[in-house]
Amino acid sequence: MTTIDTVIVPEYVLQFVKGAERSILINGKREESSSGEFFDNYDPGTGQVIGRLARGNAADIDRAVRSAKRAFDSGWRDLKPGARARCLLSLAELVDENLEELATLETLDNGKPITESMYIDLAMTAEVFRYYGGWCTKFGGGVLPVSPAIGTAFAYTRQEPLGVIGAIVPWNFPALLLSWKLGPALAAGNTVVVKPSELTSLSTLRLAELALDAGFPPGVVNVVTGLGAEAGQALAEHHGVAKVTFTGSTATGRKILAASVGNLKQVTLELGGKSPNIIFADADLDTAVQGALLGIFMNQGQVCCAGSRAYVEESIYDTFIDKLNSAAAGIHLGHGLAEGSDMGPLVSATQQRRVLDFIGSGTAEGATLVCGGGTPEGDGYFVNPTIFTDVDDKMTIAQEEIFGPVLSVLAFKGENDVIARANASRYGLAAGIWTENLRRAHTVAAALQAGTVWINAYNMIDPAMPFGGYKESGFGRDLGADAMHAYTQTKAVWVGLD
Ligand code: NAD
Repeated sequence: MTTIDTVIVPEYVLQFVKGAERSILINGKREESSSGEFFDNYDPGTGQVIGRLARGNAADIDRAVRSAKRAFDSGWRDLKPGARARCLLSLAELVDENLEELATLETLDNGKPITESMYIDLAMTAEVFRYYGGWCTKFGGGVLPVSPAIGTAFAYTRQEPLGVIGAIVPWNFPALLLSWKLGPALAAGNTVVVKPSELTSLSTLRLAELALDAGFPPGVVNVVTGLGAEAGQALAEHHGVAKVTFTGSTATGRKILAASVGNLKQVTLELGGKSPNIIFADADLDTAVQGALLGIFMNQGQVCCAGSRAYVEESIYDTFIDKLNSAAAGIHLGHGLAEGSDMGPLVSATQQRRVLDFIGSGTAEGATLVCGGGTPEGDGYFVNPTIFTDVDDKMTIAQEEIFGPVLSVLAFKGENDVIARANASRYGLAAGIWTENLRRAHTVAAALQAGTVWINAYNMIDPAMPFGGYKESGFGRDLGADAMHAYTQTKAVWVGLD
């Protein structure tokens, strides 16, 4: 065992981190970047450099796309569905078997508590691969009842893979969001080039190795580590890529859409959010308080669907704030690998600065800071759990995605008021509703402009349920059967019978 500051990291995990310099995986072989350049990789819990990774560029992306195209043409696209299923199911097993190692890498890279990495991120990653392993043998076209104007015919559809998929992944759930893309893309018979976030590439590298062990042929899954503006942009522009699937910020989503026009590639965008979490006076208050905390403080608030605007009905506003405050006071910050940490650091110094600037704007624009607002003493990119009350809808902290542990609490009067205000956002990713009134729950759920609505729950995710946004939160859906359609194209086949 070796120590990074106060936390213990198993030696074999450290060896993997140190050996990650050959972090570009093309045709099953790990390589350095063709330029020979690297970038540093940080532990956000200490702020220390823990290794370096290959800085892939456009030439590396081009080699990876060619490798993926060769693998697509030379067998993967036509492999029997049962054989593809075995690869995905075997990968799910390998994730389970290596859960601790993968979760430790994730926490070292991202900062989140190891319990979240293990029991949420990586456990669900295995489930996503397992779920899409099941789809391989159950997804296809159909025979349709046709009445053509000319003659008689038998007609059927085929669901065919698109080709090479470019998967661009963010840093907040590196392994899990990769599985949302890899699972359906591979199940449908596509091959993939992954560009992980430059802040969190380690779990992707290990997962790509496990994919080889699981039986995926070399070239089916390729990885190019590097910076967004270089490797990411090159992947979005590449004419050999049939589709780009992207999760990340709305600003980057716009660049990716613009980059896709050269060959009119398909695009799925899962972008940012400013999700309302609505607490009616008739809610079970203690459960709603827990839901509000989970909604904003899970993963340090770096969650695209974070419930960052809590709308609380006027008559319970003060009671709710009291309960929320005392619950938030019990949250223990610490290194993600240290025992007893409820919340880890933010992912980077840049993200910490950005969140602290938003907190500054909340105070400057007249909101009341009732909890947190600063950083604890010591190293690492921590921000204390922060709650603002007396927030107005027009304030920056009520409008902009902060992507940190900052909750804005707003008072409302009745259903119509809260529906209008909840919808007055350019985003539409998710929403929460807390009420014991059945009619109200479903009426409000129908009226909210959001891709996901949770009633008396928050942050529930399952591989079977589609996930994606309305408005500037993006388009297309990850997960569920929707994603199988998103990674295939329909061919109509006619057979003349006259
Ligand atoms: P980001 O947009 O900065 O980066 C995401 C990925 O895009 C990274 O791999 C990055 O290297 C790459 N990238 C950056 N510039 C690029 C470019 N010009 N061309 C191609 N690729 C480029 O986002 P982030 O900071 O990593 O993640 C946080 C954001 O992601 C938040 O805004 C959050 O809301 C959003 N997010 C959305 C969802 C969702 O499902 N809707 C899920 C998680 C995160």
